Amino acid sequence: MPGTELFGSEERKEINDVMETGILFRFNHDQQRNGIWKAKEFEAEVRKVTGAKFSHAVSSGSTAIATAMAAAGIGAGDEVIVPPFTYIATIEAVFFIGATPVFAEIDETLDLSAEGIKAAITPKTKAVCLVHMCGGMADMDSIVKVVKEHNLILVEDAGQAFAASYKGTSTGLFGAAGAYSFDFFKIATAGEGGVIVTNDEQVYKYADSYSDHGHDHVGNNRGMEQHPIMGFNYRISELHAAIGVAQTRKVPAIREANRKNKAILTEVLSQVEGVSFSTLPDPAGDSATFLNMFLPDTTTAKRVVDELNKNSVGGFNYWYTNMYHFINQWDHIHQMRTVSKLTAQLGEHQDYGNLHLPKSQEVVGRLISFGIRCTWTEDEVRTLANNIAKAVKAAVGEPALS
Ligand SMILES: *Cc1c(COP(=O)(O)O)cnc(C)c1O
Repeated sequence: MPGTELFGSEERKEINDVMETGILFRFNHDQQRNGIWKAKEFEAEVRKVTGAKFSHAVSSGSTAIATAMAAAGIGAGDEVIVPPFTYIATIEAVFFIGATPVFAEIDETLDLSAEGIKAAITPKTKAVCLVHMCGGMADMDSIVKVVKEHNLILVEDAGQAFAASYKGTSTGLFGAAGAYSFDFFKIATAGEGGVIVTNDEQVYKYADSYSDHGHDHVGNNRGMEQHPIMGFNYRISELHAAIGVAQTRKVPAIREANRKNKAILTEVLSQVEGVSFSTLPDPAGDSATFLNMFLPDTTTAKRVVDELNKNSVGGFNYWYTNMYHFINQWDHIHQMRTVSKLTAQLGEHQDYGNLHLPKSQEVVGRLISFGIRCTWTEDEVRTLANNIAKAVKAAVGEPALS
């Protein structure tokens, strides 16, 4: 988990800057803050890494994706095409902005495919919330083509793909808006935090206002500001933003180390029978936070998981049975268990407990992902590669169940 591997004097210095002034609020207080604007600086660092024209920091990746969709004009009654393999926040965000998720198929990129999106389009489809999973990127040429053909809004949840790109464009910048997460488990962390990016000034202004009660942030008297729209409080604090500043500056170096370590793992494991890898539509744009390994089928993948556990090889995710990343375990969504009624429950929606997504089931069933650490020594990487190879060989060597 790269960001958390590298806490040090840089993070402490940024926090201390804020403590010196005592201004933990990201807006106003121009005199007292003595030129310290950590949220603004965090946003600038994110623009540096991504090349986005506009960026806006908020309290989490979850509020970032909800804000990005709202700012892009997605709301009540709109159908939003989503993947069944994502962190659950994507789906929650669609529900809580008043829209209705429509699950579609992913492919070996681990992300929605153009064919999957096409097959899920109905007359009510307003948007696609594409999720770039496991450090990689979706096949953007084919996806942008479908989105344009059907006049849909594209929003990208790049919660796991900050610092990843496709043909030179950063994830998050292919549609109306994108969102990154800076929670404790991402390539860079703010403790808690998220950032919305866009190249559209109007979308940026809506995001800026929406995430702070509709304030227009003009002038230096908060009490006298105009409210172009209604909003809510999704603000980030200066303390979280301060950590985000230090961490985001480390991202290019983290990515380089990740890529080096991932290359070694890939090289060793590509020689093991039965192993293949997720598709990277632009390998040069990989943030390399995960090695995503496919086994020939779900049964074999489960055997590899058992072998890894038996030999205490940690640091991997078997998403197929993971509670928060794959639809099979989302019983509360299957049954639409809510504390209060959602807009989606007023209309028709897919029977979420009975979805037919065979391709996604097959892809996620065969997938085992290893989190890449940027601080590994080459010895550590090679030991892990050999341990994984051993587990696969033991699992593949077993007779097939029949
Ligand atoms: C982490 C993550 C989120 C949520 O981010 P938080 O900052 O934890 O709210 C959303 N989407 C994806 C794909 C994620 O991986």
